[in-house]
Amino acid sequence: MRRKLVAGNWKMNGSLAANAQLLAGIKAEFADGACDVAVCVPYPYLAQCQQLLDGTSIRLGAQDLSLHESGAYTGEVSATMLMEFGCRYVIVGHSERRAYFGETDDLISRKTRRAIDSGLIPIVCVGETLSQRGAGQTEVVVGNQIEAVLSLLSADDLSRIVVAYEPVWAIGTGKTATPDMAQEVHAMLRRRLREKNAEAASNVRILYGGSMKPDNAAELMAMSDIDGGLIGGAALKATDFLSIVCKG
Ligand code: PEP
Repeated sequence: MRRKLVAGNWKMNGSLAANAQLLAGIKAEFADGACDVAVCVPYPYLAQCQQLLDGTSIRLGAQDLSLHESGAYTGEVSATMLMEFGCRYVIVGHSERRAYFGETDDLISRKTRRAIDSGLIPIVCVGETLSQRGAGQTEVVVGNQIEAVLSLLSADDLSRIVVAYEPVWAIGTGKTATPDMAQEVHAMLRRRLREKNAEAASNVRILYGGSMKPDNAAELMAMSDIDGGLIGGAALKATDFLSIVCKG
């Protein structure tokens, strides 16, 4: 039985005051135990959020990591630095990084490798654009994205990753994949994972992301291969985030 995971992706949002208010709201109503919960926050706020989440079971995550360990890489943040601030998770290959920062399947695969080697759990994002879906390319595109990552992983590594299926056309648009549409892709992803390691594949959590909200979270997470959510917009409002967590 896979335990569900609901992870917030704050993206480039927040401030010291707003974060304190958001986490206070989440902590006040958070009922421990329903499912695993994490928030992936901007780098400058890791220390603040680490402190605010101390003593809770809400885990901390980052939204990206460097491929490099240390040295002359201006602007980069290493996995070791993230670990120092108590991160458990790191989002890798979010579609915004692919689209706006030129991240390729190859780079994303190597970042995934780096995260695992450093003890972080990568939340590896895959997903097709609207035109790719329209052209009937969803399985090919998403299949290629996951295969690129799997090519750098050992069979044992499957126990150290989370996958997030995030159709690009659903992110931040208010359009959500129907539960059946999402389940079809999740099942395909699990088949690919099974080819690598049949036993571990049944334990890999595959999250859905793309306008998951309180009113659609339950039906999405009821699907057999949907093991939680990666939440953008709704993670910025304590009541919405908690309401999704409750459905996990
Ligand atoms: C995301 O950015 O990962 C995401 C799923 O965003 P939203 O929930 O706002 O669509």
